[in-house]
Parts: sequence; structure tokens; C-alpha cells
Amino acid sequence: MDTPQLDEASQPLAQAWQHCLLQAGPAAAALLHAVAADAPPMLAQRFYEVLLQDTRARRFLSHEQVKQRLQPAMQRWLAQLLTTDADGIAATVAAQRVIGDVHARVGIPVDLVTRGARVLKHELFVRLRADAHDSDTAFAAIDCLSAIMDIAMEGMTLAYTHARERSSRTDAAYRLFSLVQNVSTERERQRALLLDWENSLLYNLAGHATGADNASLATSEFGLWFTHKGIPSFGESSETQQVGQLMARIDSSLQRATDEDPARRLAALPAIREDLATIRNLMTLLFERIGELDAGSDALTNLLNRRFLPTVLRREIELSTRNHTPFALLLLDLDHFKAINDGHGHDAGDRALQHVAALLGQQTRGSDYLFRYGGEEFVVVLVAASESQAEVIAESLRRQIAQSPISLPNGQTLGLTASIGVAGHDGHPDYERLMARADAAMYAAKRQGRNRVVVADEALPEAPGRRALQR
Ligand code: GH3
Ligand code: MG
Ligand code: MG
Repeated sequence: MDTPQLDEASQPLAQAWQHCLLQAGPAAAALLHAVAADAPPMLAQRFYEVLLQDTRARRFLSHEQVKQRLQPAMQRWLAQLLTTDADGIAATVAAQRVIGDVHARVGIPVDLVTRGARVLKHELFVRLRADAHDSDTAFAAIDCLSAIMDIAMEGMTLAYTHARERSSRTDAAYRLFSLVQNVSTERERQRALLLDWENSLLYNLAGHATGADNASLATSEFGLWFTHKGIPSFGESSETQQVGQLMARIDSSLQRATDEDPARRLAALPAIREDLATIRNLMTLLFERIGELDAGSDALTNLLNRRFLPTVLRREIELSTRNHTPFALLLLDLDHFKAINDGHGHDAGDRALQHVAALLGQQTRGSDYLFRYGGEEFVVVLVAASESQAEVIAESLRRQIAQSPISLPNGQTLGLTASIGVAGHDGHPDYERLMARADAAMYAAKRQGRNRVVVADEALPEAPGRRALQR
């Protein structure tokens, strides 16, 4: 077996595991092995009995696919925990982190996971006590098992926390994207507004008017944007707080300067300008931090960037489960696109992509989501649509694309076709499953000759070489 390299966070877990195996000794280890040989099916059964009493857990566990996969997977997991020896520790710890990632993706609440562990622990303790020849061995085995289960939970939680942080950052970024639309335009606009304000302040304070003529920074266009859109977009942080404090300080020193003679008003100016410079720097930083958002929409097609796909799918799965409404996904890949680039040039290829993006926009509802998924691949999330409705939409898209050749600058026309995979959400809580089904369908459409629509079917072979959306 390959020994995976453990990162810094996982190493203490592996060491603790090692330590507890050493402490337990051979008799306890043998007892754990013996239990691993026959207890897992009963334990998995018990786990389900307890957890299915919880409505939240039912949401994650009742799907047929989950039942079929999770029962055996859990049994394997238990057997692995009970029988891992020194050489296998690294791999087992790494596996816990993968499990934590899945939990995060699916959005399983941590308390349900720990409840499951508690149930399993208890059953195992009872069993170990009954099977041990003497109480020392029972104690050593229970002690070791308890530590192992905790280490496994720690590994999962570690991954879970990282994954949740990552996805909540993207979720937040998505909110911002929806709010501000175009980060780089907004950044320039706000920078210009702040400069305008400073210029008019300079003009006024230089004696052409009284300080009172200058609107306060807080009520200026910049100030209003910052309070109403900036803070919710950037998220509250020490930087946004600092900008707020600086604005208040500038406004109050302006207020004071109103009552003073021109010379003293001018004397207040350097401090104000210094504060303004600090605000500018902070704004640069705040915009930079969300600067990834420039990739919020794809520059060529104006469709959503794929990195928001998990956010959208997670929410749609949640809505669909809560409201019992269907939704479906189309994965569309242009046929022989390389040949178009090769034969007509990259610019023609780009035009073709824009053309298809525009067709997708015309043929779908405003509530649907359009993503540029990759080079010449698109994902359409059809909200409140069943798989069969999605198939009809996909078919009409396919026809539209095939029937609307684009005209090139040189007068030539260029025909396009697309292969489309359709997958309706089947209740599975993991969006990667849905993507994989759409992908397999698209791959099947390619293999069946392209320019066609294929609906997902569990029997379809998996498309090769696809990377997970979020890792
Ligand atoms: P298939 O029918 O199997 O999908 O064949 P294909 O040629 O479309 O498949 P493949 O995925 O191998 O090729 C995709 C090509 O798309 C490769 C790449 O040069 C081109 N491409 C990716 N992104 C862009 C882009 O932004 N602009 C242009 N013009 N071409 C792109
Ligand atoms: Mg492709
Ligand atoms: Mg292609």
C-alpha cells in the first residue's frame, strides 16, 4: 500500500494512533481484530436505527444510493479502524480527511457525525467487554478503540472545517458577485468617487468656500456606497471597521474646521489627506481580497464561472429537497471544437463560444443558471425542471445550435453542433454525483456520434478523467 504524505495537521493524529496501538499491546490488538471480523454489519445496522430517528439525518441517509453505498462503506470503515496496524496508520488518517470532505460537501451537520460515532463506540465497548478474557485486556482494547474513534473524528473534523471555510468563502464571494456585479469596474468607480471628494474638499478648503460647503464623506457617494453595499459585500472585518472610523474622524475634523478661520482650516488638511490615503489603501486591500471575483463571470462569454457551481448546486439541492421540486442539469460540450480552432483560427473559436453562450441565454429562463464549465463546455442548471422537461429543453438547444451557423468576418459560415448530457436531480445529497451523471451522459452522447442529447442512466459508464468540482 502507498503511504500517503501527511500534512502538518494530520501528523499528530498519526502519532497519537501509533502511541495508542503501542500502549494497547498484542492481546488488546488481537481482540480488536476479532471484533472487526464479524461486528461491522451489526454496527452499521445499529447506526442506521439510531440516526434515522433524526429528521435531519433522514435527509442525508434515506436516499437509496446512499443506503446502498454507505452501509458497506461504513462496515469497511469500521473494520479499517479496528485493524489498522502501524504501517497503515497514515493511509487511514488520510482516509478520514476524505470522509470529512464528503461530509462538508453534502453539508452533514457535525453533531450527527459525532452522534453516529457515539452509538458505534457504545456498541463496540459492550462487545469488547463481553469478548475479552480478562478485564485488563478489555480495558486496554476499549481505551485504544476510544482513542482511535476520536482520532478518526478529529481527522474528519479537520477536513470538514477546511472545506466549510473554503465553501463559505466562495458562497460569500458569490453573494458579493451578485451584489456588485463587476468588481473591477466598481473598484475604479469607488476610487474615482473618493478622489472627486478629496478634490472638491481641497478646492473648498483652499478658501473658495466654507468647510460647510463640503458634503460629509459619510454622505458622499463613496460613503453611501461603502456603508450600504461595500460592507455587506466585503463582509465586516477590521478593515471595513477602520474605514468607517476614518470616515467618521475626517467628518468630525471637517465639522470643526467649519468654525475656524481659513488658515486653521488649511492646517487640518494634511491629517485629513493622510486619513484619505489610508482609506484608499484599505479599499485596495478589500477589493483585492475579493479580486478573485473578477473571475466571477467568464470574460469571453459573460456566463458564470464554474467556481460558483458548487454554491449554486448545493443551494438547489437544498431547495429541491425542502420543497420537493425537481431541478436538472445539462452538460453541453461543443463537438470537434479543436477542428474549428485549427481550421478557422482561435478568434473564430471565440466567436463560436460567444454565439453558443448567447443562444443558451435566449433559450433558458432568467431563473436558470448558465456556467462556462471549461473551454468549450457549458453547464446549465434548470431550476424547477424535471428530467424529462430538461430533455426537451436540451433537445431544442441542440437543434438551435445545429441550425444557427455563425458568419465569420471573411463571409464564410461555420456550422456548430453540441453533445448534451442531461441529469435530473435524483435526491442524492452530493452534487458531485449529479455532475458525474450528467458527465457520463454527455460522454455517451459523444460516443454515440455527437450532436445528440443523452439522459443520465445509472447504467452509463463513467466519463473518464473528470476532476471533482471542489477538492
Ligand atoms: P469533441 O467533439 O470530442 O468534444 O472534440 P473537441 O475537439 O471539441 O474536444 P477537445 O476537448 O479535445 O477540444 C476542446 C478544444 O477547445 C481545445 C481548445 O483548443 C479549445 N478551446 C478551449 N478554450 C477555448 C477558448 O476560450 N477559445 C477557443 N477559441 N478555443 C478554446
Ligand atoms: Mg471538451
Ligand atoms: Mg468538445
